[in-house]
Amino acid sequence: MTKVLPDDSLQRGIDTLKSQIDAKVVSYLSSCVHCGVCADACLFYTETGDPRYTPIYKTEPMRKVLRQEYSFWGKLGYKLGFLQPMRESDLKDWEELVYDGCTMCSRCSMVCPIGIDIAYVIRKVKEGLAAAGYSPDDLKSAATRAVEIGSPMGVTLTTLQATIRAQEKEAGVSIPMDVEGADYLCLFSSGEIVGFPEFIGSISRVFKQADLTWTISSDYFEATNTGIQIGSTPIAHQLIERVVAAAEKLGVKTVIMPECGHAYSTMRWDAPNILGRKLPFNVVHILELLENLHTQGRIQFKGGTDARLTYHDPCNISRRGGVVDQPRSLLGSIAPNFVEMKEHGAMNWCCGGGGGVSANSRADALRRKVFAVKKRQLDALGVDTLVTACSNCRNMLEDGLEDNEMEIELIGLTELVAEFLVEDQDTLRAN
Ligand code: SF4
Ligand code: SF4
Repeated sequence: MTKVLPDDSLQRGIDTLKSQIDAKVVSYLSSCVHCGVCADACLFYTETGDPRYTPIYKTEPMRKVLRQEYSFWGKLGYKLGFLQPMRESDLKDWEELVYDGCTMCSRCSMVCPIGIDIAYVIRKVKEGLAAAGYSPDDLKSAATRAVEIGSPMGVTLTTLQATIRAQEKEAGVSIPMDVEGADYLCLFSSGEIVGFPEFIGSISRVFKQADLTWTISSDYFEATNTGIQIGSTPIAHQLIERVVAAAEKLGVKTVIMPECGHAYSTMRWDAPNILGRKLPFNVVHILELLENLHTQGRIQFKGGTDARLTYHDPCNISRRGGVVDQPRSLLGSIAPNFVEMKEHGAMNWCCGGGGGVSANSRADALRRKVFAVKKRQLDALGVDTLVTACSNCRNMLEDGLEDNEMEIELIGLTELVAEFLVEDQDTLRAN
């Protein structure tokens, strides 16, 4: 689709990139020694061999603006015509590199010997591109739906209520809505509501067993934040404020983030910085909570699965979120044949669809190509079940397994935990 952009889009992009420059950006970009180590950490480079996908190259628009606007030699070079200033075509080229060829997984940031947080700079590049209008149409539509309807997929309260009714029937529990003074407020991603509604039934059974006071808010239930994915702080800010308003209205102490990677890292780590104030509640990922409830003895398991299974760490939950031990502790109780992928935990390989890539249909072919790294990991283990804890990863893995005709069952960890939950009181007493 041809983009119709206002004439000042280039200047707006440059101005926004300038506004994103902070001490970290300057020190990162001025200390890169171009060693190339980060390239081998990025699945878009390893699986395509295309040097344009090297992580540091994706930061080039920021480097260009820094040189063009703030460096003496840069300014002179542009004046004398030795250097090319930023052009619309640069924004167009990097739009595709950054939105289609980066999942914001941060694996590159882990390996840089200088300690450069490359993903941090790429996130800021996105901010400039989005301000100039250079972001994928699919993401723009998702952001519009998120702002106008409250869900990037257009999921309404009516849809959620219908899903809740179906899950209440299926799980045999009642699911609380708008309970003032509950301890916990649980959010869901639209992807979960639509694609994996059994997650809602599973947590309801677990929370009933643990005797948790929890609720869903009819004012705002969406966990995802399209503002973060597209690179728009104003949109991210607006969506975070909705969570805060819903939590404050109900007076909850803790907000539970569901099986959605970026939703967790956004609320847990980005939200206070974006709002410029402390959140008036704690933020916990569902796996942290489940592990905690199990450790406290508030939930118990009986039996387990014989399957030879492995766990795919969602980048935003493990690498960027720090929730690495909890899933392993839970699996340790119910999956004796659990095996690790060679690269796991903080160094796991991404599913290929994070950072908004999954919502960007233009990137489909590239995303399916880079799944090759996950296929190699799984082939090396010969597992029959794959567990994860992010609905977006789950969709991406589902596509990859299907494309490659891999006979591996895929399941969310929360559902797996609920499968072995002891709900029967006699068994509980006996344990
Ligand atoms: S690993 Fe670090 S220093 Fe080396 S090229 Fe990448 S960003 Fe630059
Ligand atoms: S954040 Fe991940 S996908 Fe993006 S450049 Fe770094 S390694 Fe590649």
